[in-house]
Amino acid sequence: MIILKQCFVSILIIFLCVSVARSTPDESSRENQGNQFAFSLKTIVIDPGHGGSDPGNVTRRKTLEKNVNLSICLKFAKLLRSQTEYEVFLTRTTDRWISLADRANLANQFPANQTFFISIHCNSHPNPNIHGLESYIFNLRPTDQLAARLAKRENAEENINPINFIVKNLHQRGRERYSWEATRIVQSVISSQLKSRNRNRSARDKHVRRAPFRVLADTNMPATLVELGYLTHQEEHRKLTSSAYQDRVANSLLASIRQFDQVTHQLAKKANSPIESVKRLE
Ligand SMILES: [Zn+2]
Repeated sequence: MIILKQCFVSILIIFLCVSVARSTPDESSRENQGNQFAFSLKTIVIDPGHGGSDPGNVTRRKTLEKNVNLSICLKFAKLLRSQTEYEVFLTRTTDRWISLADRANLANQFPANQTFFISIHCNSHPNPNIHGLESYIFNLRPTDQLAARLAKRENAEENINPINFIVKNLHQRGRERYSWEATRIVQSVISSQLKSRNRNRSARDKHVRRAPFRVLADTNMPATLVELGYLTHQEEHRKLTSSAYQDRVANSLLASIRQFDQVTHQLAKKANSPIESVKRLE
């Protein structure tokens, strides 16, 4: 009886996972989802990956990913506060450990339809020639093996409970259009301004990559996770650990936010136009 019950639960999980993974929005459904979720950007939650007892990637030169992430995020927050009117919140401002669930909980204190969550990381790979920028939205089905391995590493021990995620996700479908737009913009602005190799071009959807990141699964608002480059690549290591380059990254992130805000206004206008309203009633 217990075995039968376990079998049933397993089959249910697999069925729900496949259903949600298959329901990844295409261009037209993304449009509809965006229109049902009235989004207006007021708050940016910046999440410097890792911290405290979790160093993230550690290079042979003993560079700790957590320090690079924090340094860039502090610069980015400073720029946002001095040059924009957005409310800015960081999940950590010092070298301290905070669980992925708590990062999402902190972000979820802000209204989902006014907040954008951005998690900042740096990548690593056993092959020192691998380099470039990658930006991700959440999906249970990763873009490729690289994305699957990355999510496993970034999730550490905090795995996703598929049933919890699926039930929650059904109520949050509208945010996906905005997550997709933000990720597309961040990827294109940084790769063009900083001449970073655009690794999203090799993805199925050439603008955004997908992976089951725990921190993105738990946030209620539009959210993205950016891997700014590979600390295991000599040139990218040199850049990412230089204060001048970190300033340039922070400036590109600021430009991305401005562009994302403009796009959200366009989407809101479309949603409010009489033609779109009729379309939604049909
Ligand atoms: Zn990381």
